[in-house]
Amino acid sequence: VKERGRNQYRWYSQAIEANRTRRALIEHLLRNAIDKEELQLYFQPKWDLSAERISGMETLLRWKNDRLGQVSPAEFIPIAESSGLINEIGEWIMHAACRQFKAWREQLDELSVVIAINISGAQLLQPNFAERIGCIFAEERVDPSRFELEVTESFAIENFDEVNAIFVELRNMGFTISIDDFGAGYSSLKYVSRLPIQCMKIDKTLIDHISDDERSRVIVSSLIDMAHRLKLVVVAEGVELPEQLELLKSYHCDQIQGFLFCKPMPADQISGFMQAN
Ligand code: C2E
Ligand code: CA
Ligand code: CA
Ligand code: CA
Repeated sequence: VKERGRNQYRWYSQAIEANRTRRALIEHLLRNAIDKEELQLYFQPKWDLSAERISGMETLLRWKNDRLGQVSPAEFIPIAESSGLINEIGEWIMHAACRQFKAWREQLDELSVVIAINISGAQLLQPNFAERIGCIFAEERVDPSRFELEVTESFAIENFDEVNAIFVELRNMGFTISIDDFGAGYSSLKYVSRLPIQCMKIDKTLIDHISDDERSRVIVSSLIDMAHRLKLVVVAEGVELPEQLELLKSYHCDQIQGFLFCKPMPADQISGFMQAN
């Protein structure tokens, strides 16, 4: 028994050590990812259910490194946040998204979609975030009212007043503000009732079960009703099945996003997809 305990302990500490080494390696390689042009934006469309057209496009970051291969943002974004690299990467994303927007505007005669950018809590709370994003959009000569900022609900808890002031500033500049991953765990109705947000994205984990679980149906349909009474636009994320789509239509959900409609793709592929839809 003692021997087994010792082995198990050794196994755990090796696993922890390996994890620490990978995090350190990711942080190290991520530092040069911009200069080495390893970052790329993918785009995933949002489909408006009543207008039956593409209403928006979410930018999703991709990182491919020689040594590590393709690394998921779910793994490297938290590391970018804790190391402070997210600020520099975030600014790269904004410039790249503005440039892509301008390219599409030239290519497609009538570009009415709103481009969404994901913003981490750590990024939003850096000093002068609103001023910095304002400078980037001024430099790129892009109107912020064509852009939406998706902010995850989990971070605002301790910084409510600060976050509120930043959101007001961003709204005044013309940005649309969405609360991302709603219902994923930290849900506080204080956000939707007191922050100046215009859109709610219902988390995939809730959408996943609506086709097979009555309780999930009650929760999602009630959330959609509540959001509408609060004058929010509702987006369901991670829609994969036709049954989920039918249910969401019957709940009057405004927009859907998910593999059922379209996976995230590089800009050139998205251009073709937009022309076809
Ligand atoms: P998110 O903002 O909630 O983005 C949705 C994620 O779900 C994306 O994963 C997308 O590819 C995936 N997805 C969309 N539809 C479906 C579906 O039908 N089924 C399944 N299984 N997945 C679907 P991705 O691109 O790996 O990004 C993961 C997370 O990393 C994002 O979650 C976001 O929190 C973060 N992230 C990605 N790009 C950025 C970025 O540019 N900036 C920041 N700050 N965070 C980012
Ligand atoms: Ca998002
Ligand atoms: Ca989300
Ligand atoms: Ca998410």
